[in-house]
Amino acid sequence: MARDKFDSVRELLYWSYANLAMAHTAVERRQARYGTFNYMIRAKLFKGLMDRTMHIRSLFDDEKVKLVSGNRCSYCGSTLKLSVDHVFCQKMGGKDSGDNLIYACRTCNSSKGKKDLMEWMHHRNSFPPLMILRRYLKLVVCYCEDNGLMDCAVDDLKGRELPFRIELIPIDYPDPAELVMAVDVVPSANVREK
Ligand SMILES: [Zn+2]
Repeated sequence: MARDKFDSVRELLYWSYANLAMAHTAVERRQARYGTFNYMIRAKLFKGLMDRTMHIRSLFDDEKVKLVSGNRCSYCGSTLKLSVDHVFCQKMGGKDSGDNLIYACRTCNSSKGKKDLMEWMHHRNSFPPLMILRRYLKLVVCYCEDNGLMDCAVDDLKGRELPFRIELIPIDYPDPAELVMAVDVVPSANVREK
């Protein structure tokens, strides 16, 4: 079921987001592996996003997660020595706006440093909590929409100075047993239908 060929950046990002929704439902239901139901969700969402009958919801919902989860590190859950972390690092054009800011403890913050989120995760050989990945993917989609990159070929973005690395966007998600949703929040699925 995994795929590795994408005609455009749009297709790759929507595929990743559809996989995220699939993973989300499986983690919510405490499944160890994906089943038909999850694959159906992924297929429906991917098709809906591609034919524009479905849309990724705004970052507003992710801001609500931030309110509910309170003051804790988004990466490890620690409540100690918190600071504000830029999801897209400032050096690469990440903004000082709420969409791009989350709490991180000092340990995670200094470990991440100036690295891109996925680069950092890759480095640590781990996969981000789904809620952080959701915010991240939305930021990537917004960035690509704002900069007219959605219909570029995936290869065109490789090696470019961007706040994310297209080759590190997950297109094949781990089994749900290996995933965490967030520190302690389980929000509802995050799409809207027209
Ligand atoms: Zn932390």
